[in-house]
Amino acid sequence: MAKKENKFKDYDIMTQAIHTGTDYDAETGAVRRPLHMANSYKLPDDLSKVNYSSTDLLMYARNGNANQHWLEEKIAALYGADDAIVLASGVAALHALFWTLLKTGDRVVYPNVSYMAVYRMFHELFNNKFGVETVMVDMTDLDAVRKAITPGTRLVHIETPDNPTVGVTDIEAIAKIAHENGTILSVDNTFASPYNQLPLELGADFVVDALTKFINGHGDAQGGAIISNNLEEMDRIRYEAQVNVGSVISPFNAWQIFRGSVTFPLRMQRINESSLEVAKWLEQRKNVTFVSYPGLESNSGYELAKKQMKNGYGGVISFGLNTDDKTVEQFCAKLKVITFAVSLGHDESLIFPQPSYDERINLYPKPFRNGFIRFSVGLEEVKDIIADLDQALTAVNL
Ligand SMILES: *Cc1c(COP(=O)(O)O)cnc(C)c1O
Repeated sequence: MAKKENKFKDYDIMTQAIHTGTDYDAETGAVRRPLHMANSYKLPDDLSKVNYSSTDLLMYARNGNANQHWLEEKIAALYGADDAIVLASGVAALHALFWTLLKTGDRVVYPNVSYMAVYRMFHELFNNKFGVETVMVDMTDLDAVRKAITPGTRLVHIETPDNPTVGVTDIEAIAKIAHENGTILSVDNTFASPYNQLPLELGADFVVDALTKFINGHGDAQGGAIISNNLEEMDRIRYEAQVNVGSVISPFNAWQIFRGSVTFPLRMQRINESSLEVAKWLEQRKNVTFVSYPGLESNSGYELAKKQMKNGYGGVISFGLNTDDKTVEQFCAKLKVITFAVSLGHDESLIFPQPSYDERINLYPKPFRNGFIRFSVGLEEVKDIIADLDQALTAVNL
């Protein structure tokens, strides 16, 4: 596909989020582009030039649909990138990237802390099913990364800040090591979001963003994106993983995420501010054993985060309570404003305990192995969020 058009590229991200990808509706003059649920489009009269595996021509919804294409313009703009592919979920985007780039005999280096599906794909599926050599490494240890990325390693995948420990990884340093060895770097940027971090500018080759989270921001649609300036490889992903494997997003979800994305930078600005305030409050609260948030000066990733993140440090905080799994659950259940549910990046605050019996618990740094909770700060009044945490802690005698 051609480079995505962006008439607003010289404007601030707040303005781009509102104006890119939208236009008057050609038929009615409506100030919003419509939702087209059609799964097929009129073919040109001369079929001799139609390539049925192409994604350029609007022909069949799996090959590409109008609402998907409009959302792709917006996502590319938010990332200041040439191209974006929007698929059915964040995991569909991760899988599409890995599936297209990797083949039997290739080597991939991935982090010891990552989104659950990345762990499953590389710990269990790509290695056992397809003979891909998968090597897990602590990405904060650059010597270990250097050793793991041998010449011939096809891909390094990182996540920063990571899910669920909110640890920070040096994108620029790892891009340099990867490129010295002819290796591609992909970065899962979901936690930071493009308002706070632009991995392509720091040397990454591909970015993945789970649009389900901050960019949609309303907890009512699932989607994921791959973002890159490598137009040729992006078309290969479209061909191999979208058209021929079928991971395309539905027009309705693309339309819904497009709507959410309009206010994304504004929401992120507030979420950055509230999260820092909540993190600071948690840090001084008794019975809180640790707080992991890159915006805290006490955080080991603070200097690095300050260097590679802009505007703020995102909306996810991990913290520990000086208690057992059962009491952590009781604490979550006592919350009145904060919702006890998985996911993150919604309008509402979300809390999710990480129990000590999780199979991956020993892969996390030590403090995270007991009383560990992932908290996604929402758009509620920050005083109400803090008061809610406080009352629920008190209710379980913490
Ligand atoms: C949620 C999430 C994903 C997956 O997104 P889905 O839309 O749930 O498939 C990937 N990476 C990170 C860091 C996430 O938080």
